[in-house]
Amino acid sequence: MAGLASNSKRAVEMRAKIRLSYGTDSVDSERQRLLLFGLRQDSIDIRQAGVVAIELPYAQVQDNQYAEAVCAWLSARGIDYHRVVTAKYAKTDLLNANGVMLSINERRWINVERSDLQINFDKTEGCSRCGSGAVLFRYVRIKERKIQKQDGIVALSEDIVLVDRNTRAILDKESFSGVTFVPVCNFDDKPLDWFALQPEHELPRMTAQTRGLVRGEYWKGSDGLIREGPCPQCDKNCHFQTASELPVPTYDYSSIKKKLEAWNIAINGLWCLRTWECFGHTIRDSRTQSIVRLPQPMLVVSPRFFELLFIKLDKKFVCTPVEFINCND
Ligand SMILES: [Zn+2]
Repeated sequence: MAGLASNSKRAVEMRAKIRLSYGTDSVDSERQRLLLFGLRQDSIDIRQAGVVAIELPYAQVQDNQYAEAVCAWLSARGIDYHRVVTAKYAKTDLLNANGVMLSINERRWINVERSDLQINFDKTEGCSRCGSGAVLFRYVRIKERKIQKQDGIVALSEDIVLVDRNTRAILDKESFSGVTFVPVCNFDDKPLDWFALQPEHELPRMTAQTRGLVRGEYWKGSDGLIREGPCPQCDKNCHFQTASELPVPTYDYSSIKKKLEAWNIAINGLWCLRTWECFGHTIRDSRTQSIVRLPQPMLVVSPRFFELLFIKLDKKFVCTPVEFINCND
């Protein structure tokens, strides 16, 4: 299978995304508001700096040149950030890719504080040291008002993807396996018309040809929370995007084919898998040592699955084309 054209050639709209080191704990909400106010009102004239959206914990900036000004503004105030470059792709480019790494457009993010959300992870599945690889199970609880104006597909700020009942019905019409729909309910345990997508199968590691994704430490944070570095036990956590190039996740075609065959899934059919790599830090409360956030895998789906998920929505997507290559060539 031939490799695809480089993602940057296909991207229809590129932006800088600056993740501010806020949004992991409700304690920060007052500072978040101040920061949001500052970014919108400050004398650097944020319109001139090309900020197009601030949906905490992210600021979206028109291009890298403007991003420099915003990063300088943040640095001058001692605010930590992690900058990446993002792009939107045309639907046809994603449908012609080998796979699609799902991201959800910012207007479909549900920003939640810790008190708005309760997620259960089966920690027996994850690393006993850092928790990476733990899977969602039983249910997700969310404050109903956070989600009631949405439909279709949304992402929680914990990077968990939810689909509504209608989207699930579209998927259920096709015969496919390998995804658990984890029920979503409110805090009175009333079921809501939403389900979290939990893939049952894990992809192999990405190949060395992968670009735009790195392993490392990145922003330390100054909010009293401990962000753990790469885990010596499982090696899965602390993957990040970089600001230097667009992500091009790359997999060995024969390894993928073998895995899908073992799971009885057709390579050209419907599939939704989770990456071996987990993105972000394990974050602990420095006082109690309890984990407040786990590194999450990304979801990689087949083009057909992507098409069904977004059948009614959006013309341009922040999702990333995935490449399968022949590593033995
Ligand atoms: Zn670990």
